[in-house]
Amino acid sequence: MLIEQNFTKKININAFQQDLLTWFEREQRDLPWRKDKDPYKVWVSEIMLQQTRVDSVIPYFNRFIDWFPTIEDLAEADEDKVLKAWEGLGYYSRVRNLQSAVKEVKEKYNGEVPKSPEEISGLKGVGPYTAGAILSIAYGLPEPAVDGNVMRVLSRILLIWDDIAKPASRKVFEKAVRELISHEDPSAFNQALMELGALICTPTSPSCLLCPVREHCHAFEEGVQEQLPVKTKKTKTRHVQLASAILMDEKGRFLIHKRPESGLLANLWEFPNIELQHPLQFEREAVKQQFSQSLHLEVHLEKIIGQIEHVFSHLIWNIEVYAGKISASVPENEDWKLVTTEQIQEFAFPVPHQKMFKLYQDSQS
Ligand code: SF4
Repeated sequence: MLIEQNFTKKININAFQQDLLTWFEREQRDLPWRKDKDPYKVWVSEIMLQQTRVDSVIPYFNRFIDWFPTIEDLAEADEDKVLKAWEGLGYYSRVRNLQSAVKEVKEKYNGEVPKSPEEISGLKGVGPYTAGAILSIAYGLPEPAVDGNVMRVLSRILLIWDDIAKPASRKVFEKAVRELISHEDPSAFNQALMELGALICTPTSPSCLLCPVREHCHAFEEGVQEQLPVKTKKTKTRHVQLASAILMDEKGRFLIHKRPESGLLANLWEFPNIELQHPLQFEREAVKQQFSQSLHLEVHLEKIIGQIEHVFSHLIWNIEVYAGKISASVPENEDWKLVTTEQIQEFAFPVPHQKMFKLYQDSQS
């Protein structure tokens, strides 16, 4: 079985650690979450960095820590404000889980992020990667922190041909890290592997000629670095056609709706929208009728102000965006509100709905 591979025989571990760590010390980027080793900040940064690029995360991280500087602050914060701080980062279940987990840390662990792998892994949203990242970076424990980035780098250095799309492969890479990790500085070692994957050993066209561990790299030696890692394709994405409308009442306020508390983009706010399943439903009159029926309101659609495509990991929304008017008598409640342009800023909207409002504003100028 591949899990039984002995990686220590493939590589001079001391020399590898030294080359990697020397390079990291010299070349590491100046990132705000590297300024101290506060486990809470490491945690927030790692959750934000899942599925999101470093450059995009930096301003979000700074604002998040500004709004919620401690575990206590985040545990006690209003969910709407937390979602607002995350607005635009996507994958909102990440921040909901983070807040639940932080509440647990406050209540069960006296506000201190636990140091044991078992306890930290029991927190909501803390998978093996995040647990390893916090334990190694903040607490200096020699625990593996294996994500796609690290699997790519190690598959090349150690010539590991396991399919990284399969969950079972993670164990192979965790074993490799346990064998290679520096016990003097696990924090720098794990960060250096991540940094190497981000800056040098990139998914396409790795910069092997600039690589500090080229001498140790079996894929480079055999000229197969572009063929690794092995990663089978994901299942097909689903296309959904939507019509959405920015609807204004007679007082110049916009109708917005809170999404259900579970499922995609849960609890975020949106402009009214309907799914169009049949080509006949795409006609403006048909769209208008569907809006009127679903909102129980007289809706007047004025014009199409644009199209938006938004790609999720498993789903693509194609949205036709309308501007329109509604009658003044809309009953407001928890889930439906009429808000002014200024008030809209207080609600957290997913990116495609932010873009819709921008389209609307551009269409008015
Ligand atoms: S030599 Fe090339 S493939 Fe090997 S670790 Fe360095 S960048 Fe990656």
